[in-house]
Amino acid sequence: MDCPHCVSRLGGPAENPYRRAPPRAAKVALVPERHASGADIARCPSCRGAFASHEAMKTVDTFGYEARGRASALEIMRRASTGPMPRIVCPACAGETTRREWSFSTLVFVDVCVECRGVWMDGGELEAIDGTR
Ligand SMILES: [Zn+2]
Ligand SMILES: [Zn+2]
Repeated sequence: MDCPHCVSRLGGPAENPYRRAPPRAAKVALVPERHASGADIARCPSCRGAFASHEAMKTVDTFGYEARGRASALEIMRRASTGPMPRIVCPACAGETTRREWSFSTLVFVDVCVECRGVWMDGGELEAIDGTR
């Protein structure tokens, strides 16, 4: 899986199995990570964005449900108003994603894949959802 946002300028291996990647541009691979909730997620080492499957996201959400209630709403709002991000392609299945607010009135906007229901979170959004921020 590759980060839907980052393209490494360093180049990379010649083989390119990702049909959507432009030629000669190496994507940044997501690194598997064990989330504090026990869920398996994948993290971009460059932008700190994270991808979680639908199942993993349920675990993360339950984990963060209480903690994120204590997060500063003002801070989250400030982040939510930083402007529109370009639409991304699902890193897991290359499906179309739709941007929507995670859960009810969290003011955290994530990209949800309409095909596999996987969730992409930009840097800091996972921490807003799991309450560790
Ligand atoms: Zn990235
Ligand atoms: Zn997908």
